[in-house]
Amino acid sequence: MKIPYVMTPGPTQVRENVRMARAMETTNPDLDLQFYDYYRDTCERIGKFLKTKNEVRILSGEGILGLEAACASLTEVGDRVLVIDNGIFGEGFADLVKIYGGEPIFFKGDRQKEIDVDELRRFLEKDSNFKYATVVHCDTPSGVLNDVSKICPLLKEKGIITVVDSVSAMGGEELRVDEWKIDIVLGGSQKVVSAPPGLTFLSISEDAFKTMESRRTPIASFYCNLLIWKDYYKNKWFPYTPPVSDIMGLRAAVDNLLEDEDILDRHKRIGKAVRRAVEKAGLSLYVKQGYSNTVTVIEVPKGIDDKKLRNYMLDKYNVLISGSFGYLEGKVIRIGHMGENARIDRVSYTLFALQRALEHFGYILKCDIVNEFLKEQ
Ligand SMILES: *Cc1c(COP(=O)(O)O)cnc(C)c1O
Repeated sequence: MKIPYVMTPGPTQVRENVRMARAMETTNPDLDLQFYDYYRDTCERIGKFLKTKNEVRILSGEGILGLEAACASLTEVGDRVLVIDNGIFGEGFADLVKIYGGEPIFFKGDRQKEIDVDELRRFLEKDSNFKYATVVHCDTPSGVLNDVSKICPLLKEKGIITVVDSVSAMGGEELRVDEWKIDIVLGGSQKVVSAPPGLTFLSISEDAFKTMESRRTPIASFYCNLLIWKDYYKNKWFPYTPPVSDIMGLRAAVDNLLEDEDILDRHKRIGKAVRRAVEKAGLSLYVKQGYSNTVTVIEVPKGIDDKKLRNYMLDKYNVLISGSFGYLEGKVIRIGHMGENARIDRVSYTLFALQRALEHFGYILKCDIVNEFLKEQ
């Protein structure tokens, strides 16, 4: 296998110390009591980077498991759930709510803009009878970034439990779980965190645990049941054997994040410079307001086939970027500049490959996109 230069919005490149951590000798994590401390300590480090004192749990499965575990654990048949939707992942929450018998009620926003908080406030003044609400921090297929610092406190004011999918944002965008009153926030190992795919982790507030404990009916899942994880440390019992090597890798990746004091600013600088360079070169950004600093989504110029463009970048320069899916399939390409990929050298080389590929297919850029990107670095 020839490993490409992975510049997708997750999975990302994995640093050597994370790969090495995954190669360490392992133990029996159920019977070796040291592992309960190792697991708890890893959760506390995750809590530190999420800026929360809430309980954190790491589950064996990638981001989607985190989404489903939150919905499975909170939803009872007939519950009204507010689904804040301005993108593919936003909308997708409704399917999970329905699987567990809930009734999703949509608050829909413009798909090219961040959620309008004033509009949401007006909506909630008319109807706020929801058990919980779901919102996506960065909706990765479109690159829209929602302002959860305003959305979550507003929901909480109305007594609504908040569930935030921050899989592709946390670590690269500001996230203050306690200050912003987020009951459940979930992430994945393979995005900004920059470990391989395989793990999800969630921080769970006391209110969220209380909501689960006061259910009338039991949680209709075992693997997605967050409540059975509540007292794992006291009971020295895991619901299933934790994937030791994955967790060792995740811990190294989280330590990398905690040590990297420039990480948020670097994402901001790089995100902004990519957007500026793209626009100066004559290309269009898909998002019109509420830009993510972890992924840039670019409209495919008329007459160009996005698959051919991406294949050319891969064949000729070994650079792997993404297309998108759902209503965006074929319409946009996506460059991930998150985590280990939020580096000037990696982004420059990617933009170079993009420019060459566009030129190959007859699209002439208005400026040298790499020079433009480098101007403000
Ligand atoms: C990546 C991602 C997930 C996890 O989904 P996969 O496609 O299975 O990796 C969930 N939510 C968001 C916003 C994501 O970007």
